[in-house]
Amino acid sequence: MQNNCDNVPEITENILKWYSKNFRTFPWRYTLDPYKVFVSEILLQRTSAEKVAPAFLKIIKNYPSIDKLARSDINELKKYFEDLGLFYRAELLINISKQILIEFNGKIPEKRDDLIKITGIGGYICNSILCFGYGKRYQIVDTNVIRLYSRLFGFVSTKKDIQRDPELWGLAEQVLPKKNYVDYNYAILDFAALVCKPKNPKCSKCPVNNYCTYFNKKTLNV
Ligand code: SF4
Repeated sequence: MQNNCDNVPEITENILKWYSKNFRTFPWRYTLDPYKVFVSEILLQRTSAEKVAPAFLKIIKNYPSIDKLARSDINELKKYFEDLGLFYRAELLINISKQILIEFNGKIPEKRDDLIKITGIGGYICNSILCFGYGKRYQIVDTNVIRLYSRLFGFVSTKKDIQRDPELWGLAEQVLPKKNYVDYNYAILDFAALVCKPKNPKCSKCPVNNYCTYFNKKTLNV
């Protein structure tokens, strides 16, 4: 499948420019703290960042480390999910923390091969921790990025599970800039949430509409 990747440098530059004026601030961002990134990513599963922020702050205050989380009482931890729902995530936080405590002496691994082996850590959370927590250059692919890249680059997956499609991960790696990759990864999350939204994307005001497969098809009516 051929993707429309001819203008990647212009696209990344425009998205980064947009981000410099429109970035969102959340308490887990730019912390370079893998523990905070890990907790935030579990809480962000199917929940908006705005809703997650207060619960995140309370959890981090009361469970400031992997060790504390691994040894926590499940019912106590579940209380912090009352406003968020999806209570299974309390158990997930504890289970992942226990594995890290037992297998890695409480330190979140910074090697991808180690991190991805932990039950409950998928490709997206793994790369988020490595990029946002350890400052390493790893691409991220979640439902927002899938939507953005499908529209922008005309990416069409041939796989049943698009989130695990190696071709998509390859595309995301190709697009990720060599510098400013932490900013870029935050930028695409904000851009997908505020501009390339699931419904009614703001195409006419979009800074990359010139290069967008979806927009050009719609404009040309093809
Ligand atoms: S032009 Fe529209 S569809 Fe394309 S990237 Fe921008 S907002 Fe998304």
